[in-house]
Amino acid sequence: MSAPYQVLLYYFYNHFPDPEGYREGHIELCNRLQLRGRILVGTEGINGTVSGSPKNCAAYQDYMNNHPLTKGMEWKVDEVNAHQFPKLSIKVREEIVPLGLKDEDFSPRDITGEYLNPTLWQEMMKGDDTIIIDARNQYEWELGHFDGALLPEVESFRELVDWVRERKENFQGKKVMTYCTGGIRCEKFSGFLKKEGLEDVYQLHGGIVTYGKDEQTKGAGWKGSCYVFDERIKVPVNHTHTAEVISSCIHCDSQSERYLNCEWSPCNARHFCCEACEKKSHGYCGDACYEAYMGSFASSALTE
Ligand SMILES: [Zn+2]
Ligand SMILES: [Zn+2]
Repeated sequence: MSAPYQVLLYYFYNHFPDPEGYREGHIELCNRLQLRGRILVGTEGINGTVSGSPKNCAAYQDYMNNHPLTKGMEWKVDEVNAHQFPKLSIKVREEIVPLGLKDEDFSPRDITGEYLNPTLWQEMMKGDDTIIIDARNQYEWELGHFDGALLPEVESFRELVDWVRERKENFQGKKVMTYCTGGIRCEKFSGFLKKEGLEDVYQLHGGIVTYGKDEQTKGAGWKGSCYVFDERIKVPVNHTHTAEVISSCIHCDSQSERYLNCEWSPCNARHFCCEACEKKSHGYCGDACYEAYMGSFASSALTE
């Protein structure tokens, strides 16, 4: 029996002449199909993730596959038990992945890295003349990543630009492989590497999510889980006996993939916390945050 809901993940680079108008029509369409999720649309294309019933998800895919602007789009589909978003949000943005390239922006339709399917990716990863770069954020990396991959120590994609420029000499003559969750960030990141003069640049087609569904590779070579931007937070990737948890509770150091946001709202730090420690820590990332919370309580009591 199939699951009662599905999550769709997709993106498509194409020239959208009227993103505002498209948005209006798209809100109507998604509401009619009772879809929830987050969609960004801009003149450069569309990027979205939605949940809904299998019937409505199929109708949505049908619509998009037949629309002149989104014909040829690829889909990642997951079976789930319920909606994975609290509501529907469709926004018009200059960039459909916020990279902040501004005047250096370009279309991956003009320049991008060579696509590798999961099997070719896995083979190339084993070579010793390769550099594997994770194009995601640190909190995504900490939950899981490819064995042997490199996480650039940067806060934003904007800083990644400088990070690349400072060390691209070291990458010359090597095969540079890039990956991200669903593939969209690497469309531009790998394109950027090529624009910077690197020749052997590759990207994992369909991203980690596709790799984790691949029948041949079974996700081998991946450690931990994959962070996803819906209520599931994480999905499994490695379906072999080599699967392992790589993150641990910040309080007791036991293996944990449970992400919490610190209860002290000015901190809000994302941290791993096991179920037992959540009860003891009350969801604070450390004593300092717990004491800050208690302090704020005491000082507001004094002023009353
Ligand atoms: Zn713990
Ligand atoms: Zn905190």
